[in-house]
Amino acid sequence: MPKIVGIDLGTTNSLVAIVENGAPSVLPGPDGSKLVPSVIYFDGAGQVLVGDRAKEQMVENPKNTIFSIKRFMGKDIQDVREDLPLLPFEVSSESEHVIRLKIFGRDYTPPELSAFILRELKRNAEAALGDEIKNAVITVPAYFNDAQRQATKDAGRIAGLDVLRIVNEPTAASLAYGLDKRKQGTIAVYDFGGGTFDISILKLREGIFEVLSTSGDTHLGGDDIDEILIRLVLGDMGAAPSSPERIPAIRKAVNKAKEDLSAADSSEIIIESLQYRRTITRAEFNKLIERIIERTLKPCRQALQDAGLNPNELDEVVMVGGSTRIPLVRQKVQELFGRVPHTELNPDEVVALGAAVQADILAGGQRDMLLLDVTPLSLGIETMGGVMSKIIPRNSTIPASATEMFTTFIDGQTNVKIHVLQGERELVKDCRSLAQFDLKDIPAMPAGMPRIEVKFLIDADGILSVSAQEQRTGKYQSIEVKPTYGLTDEQVEQMILESFEYAEADIEARLVIEARNEAETVLNATMKGIADEQYANLSDEEKAEITAASKNLRELMKSTNHQTIREGIERLSNATMHLAELIMNTAIAKALKDKRVREIDNE
Ligand code: ADP
Ligand code: MG
Repeated sequence: MPKIVGIDLGTTNSLVAIVENGAPSVLPGPDGSKLVPSVIYFDGAGQVLVGDRAKEQMVENPKNTIFSIKRFMGKDIQDVREDLPLLPFEVSSESEHVIRLKIFGRDYTPPELSAFILRELKRNAEAALGDEIKNAVITVPAYFNDAQRQATKDAGRIAGLDVLRIVNEPTAASLAYGLDKRKQGTIAVYDFGGGTFDISILKLREGIFEVLSTSGDTHLGGDDIDEILIRLVLGDMGAAPSSPERIPAIRKAVNKAKEDLSAADSSEIIIESLQYRRTITRAEFNKLIERIIERTLKPCRQALQDAGLNPNELDEVVMVGGSTRIPLVRQKVQELFGRVPHTELNPDEVVALGAAVQADILAGGQRDMLLLDVTPLSLGIETMGGVMSKIIPRNSTIPASATEMFTTFIDGQTNVKIHVLQGERELVKDCRSLAQFDLKDIPAMPAGMPRIEVKFLIDADGILSVSAQEQRTGKYQSIEVKPTYGLTDEQVEQMILESFEYAEADIEARLVIEARNEAETVLNATMKGIADEQYANLSDEEKAEITAASKNLRELMKSTNHQTIREGIERLSNATMHLAELIMNTAIAKALKDKRVREIDNE
């Protein structure tokens, strides 16, 4: 069974985790650290550093040290107008829609840049596990749209990872706490990270997490707290805030003091290079940051209102993000929601841990649930030659809809069968049949003339409806199906696992290989049959046909067309049918005889 990792691809920090022996844990890098800063440094000579080593370069090489790339994922230039002036990067002038950063004369898309982080996590996981890692579950904020989710999947693909599932970060956090086990309930996930604040209200119903509402502030996080402390220090120094060369050293020192204050009542800000030293108490600190924390509470109230809930109607509150280590944050959240939030797990690890739990579910691990906030399998219809034509791809967030045009392939065809399928494989026979219906009474037209629009729609409950309409005549037919109805989790996961086994191989090559294997099996069985005493009971024509069909198949096996090989198999199977029957009959007779002997023995 291939290992599947869970990845938290964060704005500030990224982590990779896996479930082993039933428990999730974060996999450390070679230096032992679990958090990989989401920073990428290009040295211009072909070397790229990621994580802590890249972060060290931020001060001296701001233009070619990329951070916060998550803010650009799936965005076009228009979307990031407000972010751009805040970041020191050069944007390629050739960017039209997809934003591209220019680094040493080369353009990089956000997925390409994120892929550097993913590759680092992949390497760390491989080193820690001593195994190649090809499959991952990656988390994204609940509010990420399709383009942002797709960009995240693309990043995975670029990094050599098959992204089996995109999971919402609040859902992952809830999973890490095992809240899925309670089956029903409403959960608030308060995520206060480095540069963003997100609040999500989830509803859990029969193992399905539904996002009721999200709110937040895309420019509010631990960085703002650091900023307040930087201003404090600059004030002490009597220095003008415009002393940019001092800022990096100050930032580093105050960040450390801030983090220490989460566990201690007082801490020291020490900047040796500037001969600066100052004690700061938790009480002083709380006073400085109170306003920032207040700013997180308004979106919380908004999210509750959007979900139509009062704080006392929540069943659980989960804390996520490094900044929720701050005691005052915990206190304010507890006051607002009127209950003690979950803080038992490390808040900066909890999303990655939950991603690992989801990965474990996909790998067929202990839990028997399926999270349905995205479509788990692709949906499509059967087209010519028994091929599955995908209409809504796997991992699409629901609700989702898609439309495609089809036509007839026989002259005068008045009836079109719409066969709705689910699965990842290319061929209809390897997919699951969900439903069938006929679009009838299309006026006879030459093949290729009718224009049949097939529309797939999955609503938020995961209910699929399929409709087909002939555009020239308006003939219309529709059906409602439940894609996951009757499908066990194992089956879904098996289909996904099978699909990625085949995804990279060329489809035709795979079909040829399968046909050759089958031909080999049939030829071996034929040889055994010829050696069997029953062979003597065949007629001369039958024997001759077996010889000819075997020779024919050996010849056809060289073909690179799987249909041709299949025809040869078919002919030999037909030729040996009688012989197989004879052998089978005697085998059964023998088995029965043995049975009788044994039964007698037993008495
Ligand atoms: P993101 O989800 O944005 O990638 P994280 O959840 O890793 O980021 O949060 C990073 C932020 O958490 C940083 O601002 C960091 O300083 C802050 N942080 C980490 N540990 C602590 C701590 N002990 N006390 C206060 N803040 C902390
Ligand atoms: Mg995060």
